[in-house]
Amino acid sequence: MAKPKVSSDWCAGCSGCHMSFLDMDERLLELVNLADIRATPFTDLKHPDEDGVQIGIIEGGINNLTHIEVIKRMRERSKYLVAFGDCAVFGGVPAMRNFFDLQETLRYAYIDTISTDESGKIPNDPEVAVMTRVQAISEVVKVDVFLPGCPPSADAIFYTLSELAKGRMPKLTGDLLNWH
Ligand code: SF4
Repeated sequence: MAKPKVSSDWCAGCSGCHMSFLDMDERLLELVNLADIRATPFTDLKHPDEDGVQIGIIEGGINNLTHIEVIKRMRERSKYLVAFGDCAVFGGVPAMRNFFDLQETLRYAYIDTISTDESGKIPNDPEVAVMTRVQAISEVVKVDVFLPGCPPSADAIFYTLSELAKGRMPKLTGDLLNWH
């Protein structure tokens, strides 16, 4: 029987969750026996073009129009969608900007401070056209599994992915999530 495909993608975050994927160390070999690991930190491929994904993993909150496309595409292609890390689960670090005025923040970033963009304007680009507020993944698409943590522990990642690969819904506990 074909192994279930696992694929991941990024929205707004620091990529720390993806790096914690690699913290599974030798258990990655165990996971490779259970699942067909496609676009993940193994390949460092962003916005993968994979169909028939059993387990889709999204890191980061929704900050711009591109992120909305990313999560909708992953939702359409995946049987199970995992919100991977605090930024995906509730907005996390990127959502700190929700406490500030958006236009003032953009002006500060692109006009009032030194920037690689010397046009003196806020770029008109879907990667920059930030949403009024950073959103959690579940505010836009249905999420099947919430895997919190900044980043989630390697134990929690391994448990979640191996359970899903076996066709079972994970039951995450406080111990696995380091809630002590
Ligand atoms: Fe980075 Fe933490 Fe967000 Fe993960 S949850 S992307 S480690 S800030």
